[in-house]
Amino acid sequence: MAKYVPDITTNRWVIVAEGRSKRPTDAKSAGGTVNKVCVFCPGFEKIPGEELFRVGKGAPYEPGWQVRVIKNKYPITDFHEVIIHSPDDQKDIDQLPLSQVKLILEVYRARYNVNLPNGHAIIFNNVGEVAGASINHPHSQLVVVPKQITLDTLQLEPIVNTIFESSKFVVFCPNFSQWPFEVWITPKKRNQLFGQISDEEITDLAAVLQNILRRLIYHLGGGSHFHPGVPMVTFKEGPAYNFYIHHGQDWYIRIVPRLIHRAGFELGTGLSVNIIDPVDAAEVLREEKVEEK
Ligand SMILES: [Zn+2]
Repeated sequence: MAKYVPDITTNRWVIVAEGRSKRPTDAKSAGGTVNKVCVFCPGFEKIPGEELFRVGKGAPYEPGWQVRVIKNKYPITDFHEVIIHSPDDQKDIDQLPLSQVKLILEVYRARYNVNLPNGHAIIFNNVGEVAGASINHPHSQLVVVPKQITLDTLQLEPIVNTIFESSKFVVFCPNFSQWPFEVWITPKKRNQLFGQISDEEITDLAAVLQNILRRLIYHLGGGSHFHPGVPMVTFKEGPAYNFYIHHGQDWYIRIVPRLIHRAGFELGTGLSVNIIDPVDAAEVLREEKVEEK
């Protein structure tokens, strides 16, 4: 059971969730052992946790699904779900067919709306071990935090340094970027909750999200030409990034590539040091060509 601990002066909270330490991992443990089966793959539906929702065919706990939602066996809070992106163990949003990305976003919307009465519903995606992913099979998570817990979240930043836009979204690098190559996606229709996203917006967002993830993965994977005047930073061990969907009014998606570690100065001051000017990040990402699928 999660325990919420407030700070005396700052109105910030810590969640103590000891059960999290028991969760399995694909990463090599100190003993060098590796999980042999992937419990998120088709055929292992009975193992990982209570099935809450699925898109596609098949009875609960059987194969045939396209997107599957299960309870997290090692929850952070009382409501913690895992959204398995597809039966494919390797392909994630940057590689899956757009029709599948659309299904994932539709499931995000459905689970957000189901969980909204329970508190703040936060949907997030961790890719790569340094970004906190413990199981490689592409998946997102939804965690609900009780309403009475105040969250330390950002409101939508002013739209500047636009990378590209579609008919319904703008992709940009805010001047207040705490991380190198941080990218935000905002709907042009403002002051909505994520759960209010329309079918047309989902279709558009699938392409926009895939497009910007490809640009980031290509550039930060070292596939890009050198951009004079912009420091070259790359992923150290394959793509590693987080994104989350802002849970509140005026929703946005924030993508944070994990290229650097936070260090003592930042811990001691609460200040972020960003080694890439967001003006440069936007310019570099604007120039990256991505093939349409
Ligand atoms: Zn798998």
